[in-house]
Amino acid sequence: DLSNAIMAQDEMGRPLIIVKDQGRKQKASGVEAIKSHILSARSVASILKTSLGPRGLDKILVSPDGEINITNDGATILSQMEFSDEIAKLLVELSKSQDDEIGDGTTGVVVLAGAMLDQALELIEKGIHPIKIGDGLHEACKVAVANLDKIADQVTVYDGDQVDRNAQPESELFKAAKTSLGSKIVSKFQDKFAKMAVECVLAVADLSRRDVDFELIKIEGNVGGSLDESRLIRGVLIDKELSHPQMPKVIEDARIAILTCPFEPPKPKTKHKLNIGTVEEFEALQKYEQDAFAEMIGHVQRAGANLVVCQWGFDDEANHLLLQNHLPAIRWVGGPELEAIAIATRGKIVPRFEDLSADKLGHAGIVRELEMGTTRERMLVVEECANTRAVTALLRGSSKMIVDESTRALHDSLCVVRNLVRDNRVVYGGGAAEISCSLAVSAAADSQKGIDQYAFRAFADALDCIPMALAENSGLDPITTVSTLKARQSTEANTNLGVDCLGSNQSDMKELFVIDPLIGKKQQLLLATQLTRMILKINNVIISGKDEY
Ligand code: ADP
Repeated sequence: DLSNAIMAQDEMGRPLIIVKDQGRKQKASGVEAIKSHILSARSVASILKTSLGPRGLDKILVSPDGEINITNDGATILSQMEFSDEIAKLLVELSKSQDDEIGDGTTGVVVLAGAMLDQALELIEKGIHPIKIGDGLHEACKVAVANLDKIADQVTVYDGDQVDRNAQPESELFKAAKTSLGSKIVSKFQDKFAKMAVECVLAVADLSRRDVDFELIKIEGNVGGSLDESRLIRGVLIDKELSHPQMPKVIEDARIAILTCPFEPPKPKTKHKLNIGTVEEFEALQKYEQDAFAEMIGHVQRAGANLVVCQWGFDDEANHLLLQNHLPAIRWVGGPELEAIAIATRGKIVPRFEDLSADKLGHAGIVRELEMGTTRERMLVVEECANTRAVTALLRGSSKMIVDESTRALHDSLCVVRNLVRDNRVVYGGGAAEISCSLAVSAAADSQKGIDQYAFRAFADALDCIPMALAENSGLDPITTVSTLKARQSTEANTNLGVDCLGSNQSDMKELFVIDPLIGKKQQLLLATQLTRMILKINNVIISGKDEY
């Protein structure tokens, strides 16, 4: 059939025939389409399955320009993979929504959705209508979520009125943060990072409103040195040195002039070229410059400042005068850093020397130079600020890759701690909550009328995939492990039993303090079910612009 053919000429004038719909991909529709969607979702889920849990494997991601990234964070893996398939993209969105709302459980949600779709495929093969399956899964999800509420436990975020904003090793927040770091690159420095996470969150948390303002926490990655040199700075970090090596390295009771005007004399007011012909003229110009500097320094001194932070640079002459007048200074401080300093020290940013006055100075208990371990790189920290709520986590590592991955790890544990401050209800991890829900949904299956029975059992089987994947990734036999746990959960009436991934001879996740926030686990179930339902309803994909029908 050549009805679609057109004649064309190539650049040499030779005729050729283009048949337009040749190579057009046959798009499936109806149940066939749903099946093929499920298969592509399964391939994405299977990539993430091996990364789940504390023994999950890392993936190497190579960006188009050759940059290498190693991670086992589900959202990161998916966001960096290029999918041409629309359904695969939906799974990427899924892990992103889990990440945005909870910041944790991003791998689990995709694995669960994949398992649910797998189960749905079997029911489709049995001849059950996709919409019916979706509705049944939705009902099953309600049962599972109700069960989560039932088995939820509470952790103590703080005792009574006395809030200790330091991380005590016996505190539950600390333990929770520590567990979340177990599978990450920073696991060797788990204690240090957990402490950092708890102290960051508690420093900025408004405990009466149970609110945590993440904006006040800055994570500053700095390549060089080792992870062990990472630290929490209660204040602001300035990636600069003092302008002169002889200035004091520690400034106590700092009164800071924050300037956006340059430390240089205004240009002489002449429209024409400045002619210097004689020694006297040159000396006059020099004197003019010196007077101008002296006046600026006078303004700073009269305001009572003992530290100058300047957005601009200044030349050797100015630098020397500052040194002589015992005014330590920092130059070339970027706009955002300047603003951070102003907020933290409650100072005003001053655009003109004339405007300087005592009430515009920022206040900090101590400003000191921080020398970084072996690299001799220097930074400045502003601590004991007037506004104590700003904190900075300084992360160091030998390469950008390590710094990036530890930034993600810290971010994850910050989320865990924040979630607990917001809502201290938890369920137990290691698949314990999933097993308990699976048992609850299975039990409810028998009382369902009609086809929902199948969907309920499918939902329960999908939940089992989480502990199974955890067991498999830890080198345990998945079927034996999960069936043993199920039997024990029913006979011992203990919903805290989960997969002992780290070989600690303890299956009680409460003992191991492996917890997941209740809201996070609920969100996982709801999002995975929602996505499955959605895919079961799609029987055609129409791509705008590419469609030739
Ligand atoms: P996600 O991105 O979904 O958070 P993770 O790779 O962090 O994925 O794995 C989380 C899963 O691993 C959760 O089901 C959690 O309960 C489980 N888990 C974490 N630490 C342990 C542990 N020490 N023992 C058993 N299970 C654990």
